[in-house]
Amino acid sequence: MLSSSRRTPDSESSRICRTSAHSWGKLRGWSMVVFYPKGVRWACHRCAMCCANTSTHNRTIRLLQDEIEKLARVTGRKEDEFSEPTNDEQLYPRMMKKRGGKCFFLRDDLCLVYDNRPLTCAFYPFFLTQASANSMKICLTPEACPGLGKGEVIQRDYYARLLQLALQKMPNITVPRVRSLLE
Ligand code: SF4
Ligand code: SF4
Repeated sequence: MLSSSRRTPDSESSRICRTSAHSWGKLRGWSMVVFYPKGVRWACHRCAMCCANTSTHNRTIRLLQDEIEKLARVTGRKEDEFSEPTNDEQLYPRMMKKRGGKCFFLRDDLCLVYDNRPLTCAFYPFFLTQASANSMKICLTPEACPGLGKGEVIQRDYYARLLQLALQKMPNITVPRVRSLLE
């Protein structure tokens, strides 16, 4: 998950988590309960809105160290070509560069690195956030993904796969770092 101005735990995103009308299901990850929203309908329209800035939102696509290395390997590009440093060296050392407000790897509204897209992209339109000392929530982004409210209700398996992906990419994450995970 991800925004222009970096969101904080008390920002709009967390508010949406707290005030969501959805009931919550439970998964487990990083030795804590991870809640997911029940009853969310979503079908991606492949509009690529989440891969670019909008008139109200500058998208930030943060990259884990392994993702930077893999993108460099599979594209044959140097990391400086497609990414730039963040101030979050531990978890997301770099973020994707944009060209004309669009992700460096977006061409004609298609992702050139889809099979290797960052975790934040795989999670969209959701992100993970800390809910309490022993729990996290998979929340909806505050951005207006046009696929929300469309299609089938997302089932538990979908959230379980997202969480599994996050666990694979960040197996040794510590609780303090979980606090800002994928926001
Ligand atoms: S903004 Fe929503 S509908 Fe559009 S490509 Fe992203 S996830 Fe799919
Ligand atoms: S890596 Fe792919 S999915 Fe992620 S923002 Fe860029 S173009 Fe979109």
